[in-house]
Amino acid sequence: MVEKVNKIWMDGELIHWDEAKVHILTHTLHYGMGVFEGIRCYQCPDGRSGVFRLPEHIHRLFDSAHIAEIEIPFAPEELIEACKDTLRVNGLKEGYIRPLVFIGDGAMGVHPQDNPIRVAIITWKWGAYLGEEALQQGTRVKTSSYSRHHVNVMMTKAKICGNYVNSVLAKREAVRGGYDEALMLDTDGYVSEATGENIFVVKNGLIKTPPLTSVLAGITRVSVMTIIADKGMKIVEQRFTRDELYTADEVFFTGTAAEVTPVREIDDRKIGSGKPGPVTKEIQSTFFKAAHGELDQYQDWISYL
Ligand SMILES: *Cc1c(COP(=O)(O)O)cnc(C)c1O
Repeated sequence: MVEKVNKIWMDGELIHWDEAKVHILTHTLHYGMGVFEGIRCYQCPDGRSGVFRLPEHIHRLFDSAHIAEIEIPFAPEELIEACKDTLRVNGLKEGYIRPLVFIGDGAMGVHPQDNPIRVAIITWKWGAYLGEEALQQGTRVKTSSYSRHHVNVMMTKAKICGNYVNSVLAKREAVRGGYDEALMLDTDGYVSEATGENIFVVKNGLIKTPPLTSVLAGITRVSVMTIIADKGMKIVEQRFTRDELYTADEVFFTGTAAEVTPVREIDDRKIGSGKPGPVTKEIQSTFFKAAHGELDQYQDWISYL
């Protein structure tokens, strides 16, 4: 359950949590055409709070909206400030930020020409998405019976609300089967990503991640790619198959929610030693330090409150 905080930013104003309601004819509720973001704010060791790659997330929100042909009635700078204001007013030193752009009520049907475009920013406390144990010990994953979206069926580069029906179906199936997360293959059968995380594989010192074709361009993904390159390790974007994961030394997920989560098992096969490997641990540790503003090299990733 999301723990209630005091205020939600809605259409330019901070309103009380309980008042942030919408009409049942809200278009997005019926047809799924809306866009969103997921952003984390961390409390740094010096006591300050810093939002991880806030401008990048807001710019991706605008890119998602552009793909979806939704015109956001605010400027990116306004939404960046609004995210910070919402955290501040709720006294959240650390937490998750969910900007949501949706089509309001008015006309029904799939061509809502003049319905208002509405924007909300919700903040709440959120710990490890796949659990603290998964961060430490690794997570157990099952290849999904559902494919990741075909690139001409859904726009895979956009965080469009309706896209996540695919993720919900896959996640439910995996959890019901006793696993933590679903691995999704693209429509050609190659490894794509998880339901809300990008994937990396490590074998003999080489690190690979699928190219952007059918995957969401994760901001954690690109941050981790930068960290890997800065460490002088080799990273390539390349298609690979699920059996390459089975025989990998290490596999890990990246995402705002999942952060850097090791994968210890896929389709009932142990990955490497069955424990988070040295490369994953090193990347995870550097990522957390960077996200908490502890590394000079990555200071420009942090927007302090
Ligand atoms: C949001 C998301 C990710 C991770 O992106 P980040 O920018 O790292 O949070 C990966 N895959 C999907 C499908 C997503 O929705």
